[in-house]
Amino acid sequence: MKAFIVIICCIGLSYEAEWSYTGEHQWPGMCSSGTLQSPIDISTRDAVVDRHTVHIRGPLVFRGYQQVTTTAVNNGHTVKWSAVPGTPAPVLSGGPLRGNYTFLQFHLHWLSEHAIDGFKYPLEIHMVHVKTGLKLEEALARSDGITVIGVLCVLKSGAAAEHALAQIVPSLPELTYRMDPNNQTMAEIIDLSRLLSPDPQSFYTYHGSLTTPQCQESVTWIVMDKPLIISDNQYKLFSKIDIGGNTFNYRSLHPTNRVVYRSMASCASIASPTFIGFLLSIIMCAKSIMAATLIKGVCIMTNMKRKLLGFSIKECSQLG
Ligand SMILES: [Zn+2]
Repeated sequence: MKAFIVIICCIGLSYEAEWSYTGEHQWPGMCSSGTLQSPIDISTRDAVVDRHTVHIRGPLVFRGYQQVTTTAVNNGHTVKWSAVPGTPAPVLSGGPLRGNYTFLQFHLHWLSEHAIDGFKYPLEIHMVHVKTGLKLEEALARSDGITVIGVLCVLKSGAAAEHALAQIVPSLPELTYRMDPNNQTMAEIIDLSRLLSPDPQSFYTYHGSLTTPQCQESVTWIVMDKPLIISDNQYKLFSKIDIGGNTFNYRSLHPTNRVVYRSMASCASIASPTFIGFLLSIIMCAKSIMAATLIKGVCIMTNMKRKLLGFSIKECSQLG
């Protein structure tokens, strides 16, 4: 009888059989049969500006993000910080959401899972929230059960760039190797707002799936497009994290066969915060591509010139 090793899956949403980033074609469930899978390449040209606030009814509202009690684990696919049950958890509402969503955990992907105009980023933070009042299993069975904030990161040198990740980096040595899910790090308080984009109201949103098995199509994605600056030295530390022997932990892109909306604020914030930071991210991405090309082919940089020249802003103003 074939035995399966049962572990907590990448984003801790359910128990899954073992899976690997090198065997995506073998992923079970909706991963192979779904039609609204994530991640996707977001086209700034095709994204719909919701000028009449039909889909995005107002700004996102963040409550309780400054002090979150978390414990961390390396689950063999990523490093993940989860809210400790029984402690106050942040609540997200507004934007494209109908009702409240309670923060469950955040984890990291290197390289990014989402791309914008074909451009992948060195790191993407995922903050997973469950519709308030629902059990996880109930939320996964509904199309609006989960919302995930995706924060894209760019690299920069210097001490100032270390602010965002400074609170989680000290835990990384302890998270080097895969851990028993019941053997998490000591609880510590994290300011989640430091891990949000510099402009949290500037985002793309669409309906998609979890990016790990079982890939349920229960997710309202909110991908913040103004990147968070992190330090290049901090980024190097992630290469020491053991994620099943893989160099990277991102799922391949899936067809963008649906409407992607963009917030009004995104029309004025396409460019990266600093030119140098953006160039550094390109360099890091170029370094990564040497290792990753044979695996999946990433860092499509054909649209870089367009991005640097700010054509996206022009396109945004042309809509509507
Ligand atoms: Zn994720």
